[in-house]
Amino acid sequence: MKLFPLFADLSQRLVLVVGGGAVAARKTQALLEAGARVRLGAPELNAELAALASEGRIEHIAGYFQDEWLDDAWLAVAATDDDGVNARVAAAAGVRRMLVNVVDDPALSSFQVPSIVDRSPLIVAISSSGVAPVLARRLRERIESMFDHALGPLAELAARYRARIRERRPDLGARRRFYDRLMDGPVAALLRQARPAEAEQALQAALEAPQDPPAGSVVLVGAGPGDPGLLTLKALRALNEADIILYDRLIGGEILSLARRDAERVDVGKRPGEDHAATQARIHALMVEHARRGRRVVRLKGGDAFIFGRGGEELQYLRAHGVPYEVVPGVTAALACAAHAGIPLTHREHAQSLHLITAHCRDDGQTPDWAALAPGNQTLAFYMGVSQLEPLSRRLREHGRPADTPFALVENGSRPDQRVLTGRLEDLAGLASKHAIRAPALLIVGSVAALANELHWYGEHIDGMAAALPT
Ligand code: SAH
Repeated sequence: MKLFPLFADLSQRLVLVVGGGAVAARKTQALLEAGARVRLGAPELNAELAALASEGRIEHIAGYFQDEWLDDAWLAVAATDDDGVNARVAAAAGVRRMLVNVVDDPALSSFQVPSIVDRSPLIVAISSSGVAPVLARRLRERIESMFDHALGPLAELAARYRARIRERRPDLGARRRFYDRLMDGPVAALLRQARPAEAEQALQAALEAPQDPPAGSVVLVGAGPGDPGLLTLKALRALNEADIILYDRLIGGEILSLARRDAERVDVGKRPGEDHAATQARIHALMVEHARRGRRVVRLKGGDAFIFGRGGEELQYLRAHGVPYEVVPGVTAALACAAHAGIPLTHREHAQSLHLITAHCRDDGQTPDWAALAPGNQTLAFYMGVSQLEPLSRRLREHGRPADTPFALVENGSRPDQRVLTGRLEDLAGLASKHAIRAPALLIVGSVAALANELHWYGEHIDGMAAALPT
């Protein structure tokens, strides 16, 4: 190990910063955040430093570096763009046996400032010993995305109750379980919602309970349309923390591979010979069973769970059975397909509203309100429509949509094998069958759909509009 990591308490301690530019300002801000007193030496200051000096938040010495500037300081930072000056600061600090950092110069530095992930009081510091700052930064980004901002307040709360927790849970095993429940249960959930007072009450209530119920819960997570890059940070965190993942058939292996290695993965998609009601009942039972055994269940669904995803029914079941839950939204197919096809779903000149419609209707005969969908200034996005293209196009025209209304059919949206077919509403079924469009595909109807011909940028684009124009 080339460097010895240490966390320095600089509060009210004097630190010398030499330099008056942007780098010096950045170092100064970080030092002030840690409570240090900053003496800044430079002939001229940039606007940010000048403001700090005039507010009295730093001591400014105007001029060129003098050894005496180091008097009474605990640390020194050289942040000028003059190598000679930086070297003199380093040498003078060395004579005094003071630690010095020369920005971007590990050879002259006797200490380095790590990249940090700040969830105070928890701090993660990362260093590449000065040899590969880019790698350190990458690592920092990864770690940053792994922990949400509730972690800091949670650590702070746990610190305040540490003695009381020890008193109420004298047994080490019980204490560990209590801390686990603190991290995974309602206290952390309330902190994530920025409700600190209620979180503290929940902690107190849990402490007074004779023993800790298992911390099981369900997170209903929208996985987006297939591209793992479209997962949210929260979805990624939930996958990282899951004990068990109940996933739908459309979820790809790339997304599942991001989950915690030892998480159990269960495909809960419809089984042969099973009707939808039976599938759904099985999923409900699995969620409750595993949560009651104290496990962190992730219920992973394509797109967004609340858009044609039965998420509402699943939550109602959980609520009825007293299982705590959270919901993480996902990028729904309409948004992902439109983005990857170059179709703005609203546009000042074309569409003032967007309808999300299921083309697959319930057996009780509920059908879309076709008359309401006819006016031209709205964009229609049909889910689950591949097998219904003919009746869909006919109904819309019967209710007044012009035959030449543009459509775009997006197959495998956002995935590497995406295809987009555009055309006129009257040619919809014919063109789709000619090009053998298969599910999953999303149908966009409205004049914005024609913009795909101009704005497409991803995957294969088939312009069926030109083909159908009168010759
Ligand atoms: N909850 C999901 C929708 C589930 S319904 C969501 O929010 O996206 C399934 C339908 O979604 C499919 O029939 C198809 O119309 C659409 N869909 C899902 N993923 C898609 C994709 N990658 N490309 C095109 N359509 C998709």
